[in-house]
Amino acid sequence: MASSRDENTGEEMHRWVRRLFPLHRSLTGDGVRQTFSALQEIVPWEIHEVPSGTEVLDWQVPQEWEIADAYIADVETGRRLVDYADSNLHVLNYSQPIDAVLTGQALAGHLFSNPDQPDWIPYRTSYFREQWGFCVSEHQKQRLIAEPQRRFRVVIDSRFFPGSLSYAETVLPGRTQDSVLLYAHTCHPSLANDNLSGIIVATFLAKMLRTRSLRYEYRIVLAPATIGAITWLSRNQEVCSRIKAGLVLTLLGDPQPFTYKRSQQESALVDRVAEHLLGQPEWEGGTRRFTPTGYDERQFCSPGFDLPLGCLMRSPHAEFPEYHTSADNLDLVQPAPLAESLRMVLAMIDVLEGNRFPRSLYPYGEPQLGRYGIYRAYGEADDRGRLQEAAMWILNQATGGRDLLAIAERASLPFSVIARAAELLAQHQLITLHDEAVAGPPLCSARPPHRTGPSAGRAGDCVGRGD
Ligand code: ZN
Repeated sequence: MASSRDENTGEEMHRWVRRLFPLHRSLTGDGVRQTFSALQEIVPWEIHEVPSGTEVLDWQVPQEWEIADAYIADVETGRRLVDYADSNLHVLNYSQPIDAVLTGQALAGHLFSNPDQPDWIPYRTSYFREQWGFCVSEHQKQRLIAEPQRRFRVVIDSRFFPGSLSYAETVLPGRTQDSVLLYAHTCHPSLANDNLSGIIVATFLAKMLRTRSLRYEYRIVLAPATIGAITWLSRNQEVCSRIKAGLVLTLLGDPQPFTYKRSQQESALVDRVAEHLLGQPEWEGGTRRFTPTGYDERQFCSPGFDLPLGCLMRSPHAEFPEYHTSADNLDLVQPAPLAESLRMVLAMIDVLEGNRFPRSLYPYGEPQLGRYGIYRAYGEADDRGRLQEAAMWILNQATGGRDLLAIAERASLPFSVIARAAELLAQHQLITLHDEAVAGPPLCSARPPHRTGPSAGRAGDCVGRGD
């Protein structure tokens, strides 16, 4: 259920989406820089500028693209019939410049529309093919081509030049070298769900994580799709070897249930975390298998990197009618889903941070729990029964080789309950908790280990199992 704090967060996130919505983002250029510069008000970002022409993996950073104006006007009256000032979607992204007088017939081949959605302007790009064009609603197109010999002044005042590709990164240090990568793409102009929702969730996440003491290092990266991910990967190969989990964050502002697309590995830690949480009644949604389509999971999960990184969405990529149209707007994206998406990613991070490997200090039969004060520690909490059940599961499963998440799944209990029970057991020195899997419980050579005080280790009685 949404709390009032959630509502405030959602409103604040939506205000940011509204503010950034008009900026003309593209693969490169000032729209992206203005977006990053505004986001510096929320958290500090390091802005990287990678010069056009730089070789990045099998690609090259493209020329920068800039646009000042674009329109289709009636030659007779000079009246603008399609105007870039009304929507930056009207121009094919990365369009070549043009200034000509054309008939409706000649113009028709440069108009992109979608007859299935006749009121909406489609969003189209032409990054790697030199062409010019306008994106218009089907109704606009029909009006423009109604008289094939009618003449239009057609202007796209764009230019290409050697500049740079911009991306933003913020790094939050952890107490280990292990890293978590969170990535959102930034190359779409006035589209709200497909790009701004991911950008805002990632930025608010950075703001919230900055106040926490973290186990993992978190790298939050905002960069254009495909070429941005490829550029980042080409410059961060050392970091990749330390990435233990990651998420592409996109399409997180519409009111549909969550869709988590698994990493190529299918059962990496982050996949297990998403599956566990989406199996809890608190969250609505499901997981789906990896496909080499969609967003930048394609790059991160390519065989040379094969990072354990999935994609968190609400409406899945390309599976909602507003996708890549002018209807992906400030009505489609709403405050409550934005705030809930942020909460979902934080819940995933809570599991990542809290997932450890318990090893029993009393593996021979059940420890006589009453002696350790553990029952008192459960207190009078409402979920005392579940805590007790969780403790029994942990004590049974605490080989040092199974993590708390696996135990939560096996016990059909929420991770949060298992994690709390594990903390209690560790405080009462019934188990130890480890960041990585450790060798199994000690094998006893003579008699079961027994201790009289909370800290009295009896390692002398036992030998390590050595597996
Ligand atoms: Zn897109």
